[in-house]
Amino acid sequence: MRTVRSRPTSISRILLSWVVCFSATTAMGKPLAADRRGETQDVATPIRAVRVLVRSNVSTLRVRADGGIAVSDGADRAIGTVSGDDWIVVRPQSATAFEVADGIVEDGVCHLRPVQGGSLRLSIRRDGQWLDEIHYPGSLHLTIRSRNLIDVVNLVDVERYVACVVAKEAWPTFATEAFRVQAIVSRGYVLFQMRRRTSADYDVRATQGSQVYTGIRNDGTGRKAIDAAQYTRGLVCTWHDGTADVLFSSYYSAACGGMSQPAAIFGKADDIPPLAGGVPCDYCKIAPGESYRWGPVRIERRRVFDRLESRDSKMSSLKGLRNIEVIKRSPHGRSTRIRITGDSGETHEMSSENFRLALGASTVRSTDCDFRMTENHVVFENGRGYGHGLGLCQWGAQGQALLGKTAAEILRYYYPGTKLTRVY
Ligand SMILES: [Zn+2]
Repeated sequence: MRTVRSRPTSISRILLSWVVCFSATTAMGKPLAADRRGETQDVATPIRAVRVLVRSNVSTLRVRADGGIAVSDGADRAIGTVSGDDWIVVRPQSATAFEVADGIVEDGVCHLRPVQGGSLRLSIRRDGQWLDEIHYPGSLHLTIRSRNLIDVVNLVDVERYVACVVAKEAWPTFATEAFRVQAIVSRGYVLFQMRRRTSADYDVRATQGSQVYTGIRNDGTGRKAIDAAQYTRGLVCTWHDGTADVLFSSYYSAACGGMSQPAAIFGKADDIPPLAGGVPCDYCKIAPGESYRWGPVRIERRRVFDRLESRDSKMSSLKGLRNIEVIKRSPHGRSTRIRITGDSGETHEMSSENFRLALGASTVRSTDCDFRMTENHVVFENGRGYGHGLGLCQWGAQGQALLGKTAAEILRYYYPGTKLTRVY
């Protein structure tokens, strides 16, 4: 690998002003020529890039880009270019410097000015690069946080991001309309987060906590995802809040198990008609495996306690698991809050969803289940649905698509009182 210094130059910010103008357009977009690689697109999205947190608190990174990497500092000043196709290894040398193997600068260390908040930022500005073994479009921003650990934020065009998310969140067997539904809800979700998190360091995580995002493959699912994103370009679900048509957090989960749940259990901001829950659905009966109905699942008491304790050190004072009881339910009967009693007699309350996630989202598939304690186990049974059950039921959407429903009809069903709006 050859290293070349470049003279400092200002690089225009890629963050464009964030303006969403709602138009009256409600029709689906015309099909565009599909970009089979997902690496380029016909027209750049006319809003700022989405900031996706793709790594958090890591000590070392391996980065590679086909044809070389342009590196700039946190103030967008060019530092240099790494030519060639080799991996570079990046790690913090201290709280005030990155070390880049093979030397972006002569001594192998990039001494950068701190950016806001005292952290340091190194921007790798190549349109598409490999981070470890995953290829991300756009550019990467590496920031040194406390304890010399690195966060990596991928800045990526919204429509590219949507295509990548659809490739992971839709099942390969989904019908074309179900892919389009997924593209519209994934776009609405990220645009809502981008507007809400303007002052935060990132808009969304790359995990299930937001939407799963790991680049895109050039396979059948990848091509269907790109087609769906392009066909629905700029379309989101909106509802009229009495004053204007507005975005909302278009939640979705794999299978509702019979009825969607009210999002208000997660916060008052989501206490809105489209997310009120109570939408009946048995279309998700077609979901494979134990999704529509599941259980029983038996987990050792000791293991349940260990998992809870590893997530929250305050659990240690419970000294073991004596009992679990539901203390709050949604209007549709799903457990929303539980109380745990420890061997010490102390109690701890937590949301049922966090309890489920602590035990494994694919182990305890939903909070819509019964549970009982045996001498050595906690038994979860009569499980219904897979996921949190808010908003759209993904397998329900697939079931309705197979019955000939359009994406617009499916979205109106799961988000009552909404319509499709084109935001760009
Ligand atoms: Zn359903």
